[in-house]
Amino acid sequence: MHFKVLCRITSSAKLNSLQRCPQAILSMCAQRRSYSSGQEADIVVIGSGPGGYVAAIKAAQLGMKTVCIEKNATLGGTCLNVGCIPSKALLNNSHYYHMAHSGDLSSRGIESSGVTLNLDKMMQQKVNAVKALTGGIAHLFKQNKVTLVSGHGKITGPNEVTALKEDGSTEVVKTKNILIATGSEVTPFPGIEIDEETIVSSTGALSLKKVPEKLVLIGAGVIGLELGSVWGRLGAEVTAVEFLNSIGGVGIDAEVAKTFQRILQKQGMKFKLGTKVTGASREGGKIKVAVEDAKNPDKKETLDADVLLVSVGRRPFTNNLGLEDVGIEKDEKGRIPVNSRFQTVLPNVFAIGDCIHGPMLAHKAEDEGIICVEGIAGGPVHIDYNCVPSVIYTHPEVGWVGKNEEDLKKEGIEYKVGKFPFAANSRAKTNNETDGFVKILGDKHTDKLLGAHIIGPGAGELIGEACLAMEYGASCEDIARVCHAHPTCSEAFREANTAAYAGKAINF
Ligand SMILES: Cc1cc2nc3c(=O)[nH]c(=O)nc-3n(C[C@H](O)[C@H](O)[C@H](O)COP(=O)(O)OP(=O)(O)OC[C@H]3O[C@@H](n4cnc5c(N)ncnc54)[C@H](O)[C@@H]3O)c2cc1C
Repeated sequence: MHFKVLCRITSSAKLNSLQRCPQAILSMCAQRRSYSSGQEADIVVIGSGPGGYVAAIKAAQLGMKTVCIEKNATLGGTCLNVGCIPSKALLNNSHYYHMAHSGDLSSRGIESSGVTLNLDKMMQQKVNAVKALTGGIAHLFKQNKVTLVSGHGKITGPNEVTALKEDGSTEVVKTKNILIATGSEVTPFPGIEIDEETIVSSTGALSLKKVPEKLVLIGAGVIGLELGSVWGRLGAEVTAVEFLNSIGGVGIDAEVAKTFQRILQKQGMKFKLGTKVTGASREGGKIKVAVEDAKNPDKKETLDADVLLVSVGRRPFTNNLGLEDVGIEKDEKGRIPVNSRFQTVLPNVFAIGDCIHGPMLAHKAEDEGIICVEGIAGGPVHIDYNCVPSVIYTHPEVGWVGKNEEDLKKEGIEYKVGKFPFAANSRAKTNNETDGFVKILGDKHTDKLLGAHIIGPGAGELIGEACLAMEYGASCEDIARVCHAHPTCSEAFREANTAAYAGKAINF
């Protein structure tokens, strides 16, 4: 039952002041209509990204009365709307186009002529995928009895969230627990204004109306390289400017990063590493990107671009969430500090996903969402961040989990390396996809698998086996003795583990 209440909790509401506004300030806020849902929830989840929506469904499955508040018109957050899903749709289809257009198909005996790009149709397929998946969440919410409230969720007390609706009205939901899953947003580049047409973030780069002649990327991390690959395959000349001296972002093994750069260069992508972007200006329909050598600022250059993609990372999104009003302070990176049970300083207010510490990844947010609500229901809460995989969905793919060589050296852990090239794997050879290798890092003394780094066909799928092995504390020998189907690329994973434990692979 909905009933009208007279005003919202004021912004000065503090931890224990849950009472409605005092009479004295009623007149100040009476112009806003506010509704209470009239029922107390066990948990209110703010945000319906992969962290929030999965947590909401799990909570409902565990018997909690669950409300999810989402400010966007569609569910699924960054991942489904402007992240993982649309980028993978474009990566997949641009790869097919490239295979046909570049002569790869013809080298396989598949002759086609007059291959042309219908960008509108490619974009439509992306939109269809997003629509189907975001709609799927709405269906899952109904099926699992998660109540969806549309609006901007603001914490107006330790046991209250107020949804600020588009029409200016508000809805107050009383709740035992609050789970913040408000995700992240694009980190802006100081002095460069994004218009999402010619100077774009990842969001604009997912919806360009035509293939740019020249695309410059600021940042050669995961998102830049994936979207650079898309437009490169569709015909753009792509130059990635990166401050660091290597590509691939945080956590990538240095040897893999080098091979990765070589392969992407072979595909036509250009790199300016150790280079700093100092500004960008629009001149006669083009963009002039000013860069300088990171170590020698006198070495300056101007790059021409039709489109400039700013891909320097993402930052937590907690705008107008009411955190300060309830005493939750953010850390120096704008993240919400939580303990190992994902509790903030308020024991019944939790946070997960991109707005807390750790890698900004959809599957990490999902896992946190599930174990967080299991914890609220009285279960154990455990996540091993060392077992969270990273994948770059280029061609070939790059996937890794656990420690890289640089980590192990830094930590003083003695390790051994087992490597196996895809050039020696029968399936990769059969498919003419031989770029890359599997690199296994095992403990020198115990043979325990410490890290797996794969660049090659299907790396994103293969890395799952490494995650499973690491979660169960497997040794390299354990993996090497598991029967793997032939011919598969997974045999390369087995062989690299054989090389790590026995000192030599069988087929290489
Ligand atoms: C181009 C791109 C590609 C990516 N590709 C991958 C990939 O391949 N694999 C991968 O693992 N990760 C990928 N990511 C990262 C991934 O999208 C994020 O890590 C993931 O979406 C984080 O999930 P989340 O639930 O924490 O937050 P989000 O997905 O950001 O969702 C947060 C939700 O909360 C809502 N919200 C925020 N504040 C409020 C409020 N006050 N009230 C109500 N609602 C609110 C937002 O509208 C949003 O819907 C990619 C990101 C980008 C940008």
